[in-house]
Amino acid sequence: IRSELSHVERLSLVGQMAAGITHEIRNPMAVVRGFLQLMNEKCPPGLESYFQIVMEELDRANGIINDFLSLARSGMSTKEDVNLHVLLEELAPLLWADANLRGQSVELNLCESLPALRVNSKEIKQVILNLGRNAMEAMQPKGVLTLETRQVLGRAELLVKDTGSGMTETELAKLFTPFFTTKEQGTGLGLPLCLSIIERHGGTITVNSIHGAGTVFTVSLPCESE
Ligand code: ADP
Ligand code: MG
Repeated sequence: IRSELSHVERLSLVGQMAAGITHEIRNPMAVVRGFLQLMNEKCPPGLESYFQIVMEELDRANGIINDFLSLARSGMSTKEDVNLHVLLEELAPLLWADANLRGQSVELNLCESLPALRVNSKEIKQVILNLGRNAMEAMQPKGVLTLETRQVLGRAELLVKDTGSGMTETELAKLFTPFFTTKEQGTGLGLPLCLSIIERHGGTITVNSIHGAGTVFTVSLPCESE
């Protein structure tokens, strides 16, 4: 099954208002977090585990807010000359640690030479992390996540492959729709955010998935000289 997407719907006025409210919610949440931290120092015995849960859930809510805001703010971002391999090497320890906890492994399969790309490093790292995390979440222990790079006609490609659950045709069709998720703890904002970032870099994301066998996400970005 193959689906190609190159367009994400612009956020409506309602979406922009939601972004404004979301932004304002961040400040009181930061205050709550700070005071909770203080309260923890005088935590009555036996309540430590409750505190842990409260902090985790607060951080999860913050994560959702940050994803939503990054998606809503699709303005111009500053770009610099970056080698994709450098970004991958910076992220590898993070991905390895995550995979380790799940009993999975990560393999890097990097091509010989890859020309520099003109990108916003932070955003591209976010794409790699989002795709990598999705891959791990789709796999059982012993699953293998492979990150591969290729050079194809003035473009650099990053392939994120997993040996996980794969997707049905119905799931593939909804993949980049904001808030579509099949996970209990999912936000459904990861892939819309990835698509928005890659499109702003003049690139594309392609998905190949076999239900029950695995998935390959291919990110294609124009090289610097283009
Ligand atoms: P979330 O991860 O919060 O659910 P995403 O936008 O990152 O949101 O992904 C949306 C949905 O796409 C997931 O819930 C899952 O059903 C599906 N998906 C994404 N990546 C994969 C993958 N590598 N393998 C199988 N399904 C995937
Ligand atoms: Mg995700």
